[in-house]
Amino acid sequence: MSANIASLFRKDQLLTLEDGELYEKAIQRWSDTAIRRAKYIVPAETAEDVSKAQTRSGEKGGGHSCSGASSSEGGLVIDLSRMNKCIVDLERKTIKVGGGALWLDVATEAAKYGMATLTPRYGLVIDILEEAELVTANRDILTCNEAEKLRSILGYSRCWIELRSCDFLHPQYIPTAESDMVRSARLPATTPPLLTPLFDAAAKWAKTASVDESAMIFMACPPPAFTPMLVVIPFYNGSAEEAKKKFAPFFDVGPVADMTQEMPYSEVNGLQNPMAMYGGRKLFKSTAFTAVNAERFQHIFENYVKLTDELPETKAGAIIVELHPFDKVADVPESATAFANRGKWYNINCALRWSDPALDKRVRAWASEQVEYLRDEEAKEQGMQLSGRRGYGNYGVEDEKIREVFGGNFDRLALLKGKYDPENIFHKWFAIPLRA
Ligand SMILES: Cc1cc2nc3c(=O)[nH]c(=O)nc-3n(C[C@H](O)[C@H](O)[C@H](O)COP(=O)(O)OP(=O)(O)OC[C@H]3O[C@@H](n4cnc5c(N)ncnc54)[C@H](O)[C@@H]3O)c2cc1C
Repeated sequence: MSANIASLFRKDQLLTLEDGELYEKAIQRWSDTAIRRAKYIVPAETAEDVSKAQTRSGEKGGGHSCSGASSSEGGLVIDLSRMNKCIVDLERKTIKVGGGALWLDVATEAAKYGMATLTPRYGLVIDILEEAELVTANRDILTCNEAEKLRSILGYSRCWIELRSCDFLHPQYIPTAESDMVRSARLPATTPPLLTPLFDAAAKWAKTASVDESAMIFMACPPPAFTPMLVVIPFYNGSAEEAKKKFAPFFDVGPVADMTQEMPYSEVNGLQNPMAMYGGRKLFKSTAFTAVNAERFQHIFENYVKLTDELPETKAGAIIVELHPFDKVADVPESATAFANRGKWYNINCALRWSDPALDKRVRAWASEQVEYLRDEEAKEQGMQLSGRRGYGNYGVEDEKIREVFGGNFDRLALLKGKYDPENIFHKWFAIPLRA
C-alpha cells in the first residue's frame, strides 16, 4: 500500500526526501533515538486523509515516544500534528481534542475557560472520555460514544484504532471567580543530606493527600549549580495558604530555595516544558512502587550522582518520583478499559537525556538497573510479584513485556485484535500478537 500512496495524494499532500528541509523537519522526534527516514509522510488534516493513507504505517501524534513507535524506516508515516485543534464546548463542559494535539494545546485552551484535567479527582483521560472519532484498521471512520464500547476500545487504540478527537466528560475545575483560579506551588530544591527527611515527609504527606493535590520529586541538576539536587513540585488546587498547610511536611524539611507560588494550572502543567523540548537522545524507563521508602531512593540518588559525575551530559535528564494520589484511578476495575496499570501504587520514571549515540547502551542499562532494583526491593519485602499489571505503556520503550502492559486484559484484547485487526495494521507500540 505504501507503494501506492503517491497515487492517492496530491504532491502537496505528501512529503518525501525531495522536500528537503520540510521533510527533515517532519522526521524529527522528541528524542533523536526515534528519528527514522520514512519514504512518505502524509501530513493528515482530516480523518478522511488518515483513512485514505491507512496501512501498516507509523502514526505520529506528538512524536514523544522514545522508541521510534511513531516513525518508519523506509515506509509511511501518517503525521497528525496539523490535527491539533482543541475546542471547548462550555455548555456541555467538554473539550474536543485533535489526535495531534499536545498537552500544551489542551491545557492552554482549557485554561481560557478555567478548565483543567485533574487525575486524582477525576481519573485518567480514558476514564472521562465521552466520544472518539476513530479510523479502524479497514479504514472505516467511526464515531464512538457508547460508554461501554468506548471503554473497551480505549487504551487498546494503539493496537487497532486511532483516536482523532475526543471529548472530556467532566468540567474539571471551573473557577467561579478570579479568587478561585487553580493554584499551585513549586518547591525546589533541597540538598542531598536532606534526602531521608524529604522522602519521610513525602511518605507522611502521601498518607493524607486529597484528590486536589499531588507531588513530584525530581532528582535533577537544575541551574544555577547544575549539581544533583532534589526538587519538589507540589500541586494543590486551592489557595496558597491552604497549600502551605497541606505540604507542611515538605516545608518543615527546610528547602534551600522556596519558589512556590500561586499560578494558573496551565502554567503548572507547562513547568517542565523548557526541559522537555525536542532534541538530544532520550529515554523513559519506569516502574511502579508502593512504598515511599527513603533508603531505596537514597540508593537511586547515589547512583544518579555517579552517573552524572561519570557522564556529565546526562545532567540534562532527571529521575522523577511521581506521587499522584491513586484512589480514583484504582477505583475503576482493570477490565473496564484496556489499561491494566491500575492499583494503589506510584510511579518512578528515569527520564534520561544525553547526546552521544555511543552511550545509548550504557544509559539504557543504567535506567533498567534502577528500575530492577526498586522492583526487587519491593518484591523482597512484600513477597509481591510486580510483573503482570504494572507496566506503564506511556513510559515504555517497547522492551517491556506486552503482558505486563495489558495484564489481565491481555487474552480479551488478543481476541479483539484477531477480530478487528487480523492483518496487524496497528503493529507498533505494544501491539498484541495475533493468535494463531
Ligand atoms: C515530557 C513528557 C512528559 C510526559 N508525561 C506524561 C504523563 O504525565 N502521563 C502520561 O501518561 N504520559 C506522559 N508522557 C508520555 C506520553 O504520554 C507518551 O510518550 C505518549 O506516547 C505521547 O504521545 P504522542 O502523541 O507524542 O506519541 P507519539 O510518539 O506520536 O506516538 C506514540 C504511539 O502512539 C501512536 N499514535 C500516536 N497518535 C495516535 C493516534 N492519534 N491514533 C493512533 N495511534 C497514535 C503512534 O503510532 C505510536 O505508536 C510524557 C512524555 C513526555 C515527553
